[in-house]
Amino acid sequence: MSEKFDVIVVGAGPAGTSCAYNCAKNGLKVLLIERGEYPGSKNVMGGVLYRKQMEDIIPEFWKEAPLERPVVEQRFWMMDKESVVQFGYKGLEWAAEPYNNFTVLRAQFDQWFAQKAVEQGALLINETVVTECIVENGKVIGVRTDRPDGEAYADVVVLADGVNSLLSKQLGFHREFRPDEVALTVMEVINLPKDKINDRFNLEGNHGTTIEIFGDSTKGNLGTAFLYTNKESLNIGVGTTLSSMIKAKLKPYELLDYLKKHPMVRPYLEGGESAEYLAHLIPEGGFNSVPRVAGNGVLVVGDAAQLVNAIHREGSNMAMASGQMAAEAIVEAKKDDDFSENSLNRYKEALFGSFIIKDLEKYKDAAHTFETYPQYFKEYLPMMNKAMSKFFTVDGTPKREKQKEIMRSVTAEKGTFKVMQDIYRAWKAVK
Ligand SMILES: Cc1cc2nc3c(=O)[nH]c(=O)nc-3n(C[C@H](O)[C@H](O)[C@H](O)COP(=O)(O)OP(=O)(O)OC[C@H]3O[C@@H](n4cnc5c(N)ncnc54)[C@H](O)[C@@H]3O)c2cc1C
Repeated sequence: MSEKFDVIVVGAGPAGTSCAYNCAKNGLKVLLIERGEYPGSKNVMGGVLYRKQMEDIIPEFWKEAPLERPVVEQRFWMMDKESVVQFGYKGLEWAAEPYNNFTVLRAQFDQWFAQKAVEQGALLINETVVTECIVENGKVIGVRTDRPDGEAYADVVVLADGVNSLLSKQLGFHREFRPDEVALTVMEVINLPKDKINDRFNLEGNHGTTIEIFGDSTKGNLGTAFLYTNKESLNIGVGTTLSSMIKAKLKPYELLDYLKKHPMVRPYLEGGESAEYLAHLIPEGGFNSVPRVAGNGVLVVGDAAQLVNAIHREGSNMAMASGQMAAEAIVEAKKDDDFSENSLNRYKEALFGSFIIKDLEKYKDAAHTFETYPQYFKEYLPMMNKAMSKFFTVDGTPKREKQKEIMRSVTAEKGTFKVMQDIYRAWKAVK
């Protein structure tokens, strides 16, 4: 395999495949290396794929990609032990072209997407682990793999190897991520007949719903759970930052078990059969954890560059967009025959000028705030559920009196100043 390519991409997830696809489309000689048996075989995602960034790469992809359901409804649950305060949006404009987003099963979707890169001319090699980058005179010139004849060379190596990115760590681009910079999430795919899904979620035809669940889903710890509808299965999962898990001595599988048995969740799953059980880390350090993304002969994209917006559960779209930006930078570098860090910094400039870094910067203090001040999930959320219960219980008390009573109970418990301070802090973290 000691052949020379224009580009070697490590990892056939959304970031790597997007980069390989766009490089190959522009006539570059591309090698895409994946450690799994096939692209997607090792990949985990709650399952929401965003239309916009995928469409930027393959227009009208929904006509042929293996998608589950177009999402027409997004619900948010603030869950306590025996109650839920919910809000959300359902819109039938999302059920028709050009859609908003879709649920997907990654094992199918990644395989299809990688095949598209192959059709553009990329060479895909599965079941091959890249063990290190080959560096010569301060420049990455290729990769070493676990194959016997395992070296390959290129003008640029793109690291799309996911959240741990051992390869960019080896290059000194990032340190070991701290436990508060990564979330551990476990999820299950539960098979359920289509008509049962449609009845339970109040859906028609192939329409889909997503539910994000806060509060008791993580036993009040920083994190979320999700319940998404596929054609004939549900994806259910839950995760918290590793630091929360360690602090609260939570075991991820126990958390998922707790969620599945929760009285607000259980009726949706009733009679379903477990088809898959998966666990994965999510990079949630945000803006402050984004590592160096360009060097001499090397670029870092997707989760490997910590490009996840946990508040909006966007990751696959950022992976695809960053892969595309990396490809554009490589195409320009090829025109100049200059693969130095200076030249490849075009990618960094595009990334930092895009929605990706702008969004990560907007929420840069959010995770830290909600982890340092656990009262939001642990105290305010149950208080809100109790207040709603009180407000909607018809007991002959005049509504104005109820409102006053609710306000009194909140401020009596926390103190008016403390409540105002907490509201201001939360607003600052997400404004
Ligand atoms: C439980 C969960 C739920 C999520 N839900 C959503 C969601 O609903 N919507 C959303 O947009 N995002 C979601 N995300 C985030 C999303 O999955 C990631 O942001 C996205 O997959 C990142 O893509 P990537 O290509 O950078 O990395 P990955 O998808 O992790 O792909 C990396 C690839 O590199 C390969 N690889 C790694 N090391 C090597 C090596 N040394 N040699 C060869 N190959 C290697 C891996 O096998 C893998 O195929 C979720 C994540 C998790 C864990």
